Amino acid sequence: MEIIDLRSDTVTQPTPAMRQAMASAPVGDDVYGEDPTINRLEKLAAAKMGKEAGLFVASGTMGNLTAILTHCGRGDEVIMGNLGHTFLFEAGGVAALGGVHPYTLPNLPDGTLELEGIAGAIRGEDIHAPVSRLLVLENTHNRCGGTPISAAYTQAAGDLAHLRGLSLHLDGARIFNAAGAYQVPASELAKPADSVTFCLSKGLCAPVGSVLCGSGDFIRRARRIRKQLGGGMRQAGILAAAGIIALEEMSDRLPEDHARARALAEGLCKIQGLELTMGMPATNMVFLSLDEGVTLTAAQIADRLAEKKIKVGVVGAKRFRLVTHYWIDDAAVEQTIKAFSAAL
Ligand SMILES: *Cc1c(COP(=O)(O)O)cnc(C)c1O
Repeated sequence: MEIIDLRSDTVTQPTPAMRQAMASAPVGDDVYGEDPTINRLEKLAAAKMGKEAGLFVASGTMGNLTAILTHCGRGDEVIMGNLGHTFLFEAGGVAALGGVHPYTLPNLPDGTLELEGIAGAIRGEDIHAPVSRLLVLENTHNRCGGTPISAAYTQAAGDLAHLRGLSLHLDGARIFNAAGAYQVPASELAKPADSVTFCLSKGLCAPVGSVLCGSGDFIRRARRIRKQLGGGMRQAGILAAAGIIALEEMSDRLPEDHARARALAEGLCKIQGLELTMGMPATNMVFLSLDEGVTLTAAQIADRLAEKKIKVGVVGAKRFRLVTHYWIDDAAVEQTIKAFSAAL
């Protein structure tokens, strides 16, 4: 890429291997269950997550929505973090389309929810209250700095949910980043969850798609919900082909992005006027803020960087988010540090 685009890992372009696989993928009508490439992707994804079955969906948002609508009926309650993607960035879909009532708990700085808070949020047998049905966790936690959530925490939260009759859905949009950070298989992190979604289209570089995984029965029911949401696709094996490459070739290389995020953070925090808002990155996201003394806004600095073909995320008047990915190499990291230094 000529442009250094650090706004997100969603900007990743498909790799040459993906384009080739897409061009030659055998396809069929997936609503009839006849697309061999989608069937292969769904099997592979389920195996990676340690679940019985998978469902290819158009986006992470559709995966989470499909999951929550499969777990919950109208008037049921879902417990989620107040900084969670499902609460902040999915257009209120669970309420708007499912009549599902979100109960938010404050996310701790590491992206988790206090177990006591979860226990306290679960409703009793009272006709005044909605029925607590589902707990949603996010791994890695995007707004909390791309923090990976441990298998031990997920297990403890899952045990608590299950003991009280709730299910656990894991928004694992970047679960392979978490797996890379902990050096454990993704299935270990997903084990306590009844359902899990992950994105093929972020650090894994596929152009489109996410996969929702869970038990065979859960995925059968989710397939109907996906159809209801308009997500029954036909010869979408063309897209799934890139997803297979994403899983086979890209899911284990993410620690390289994490190393570059650390290098970027180390360089940037030495520049007068810049501070790491969330400390050293554990995965691929660097959150930065401008010191009191800097009169320029983050948007003004972003404009200066854009003149040098560097794009960064502006997430507040004085705040940036920079995300490393496959198309950001060591030279891009160096150039970005230099450009920030000059812009300030
Ligand atoms: C990106 C993301 C999603 C899904 O986003 P889409 O753009 O709909 O694919 C879900 N959860 C988290 C934490 C994300 O970062």
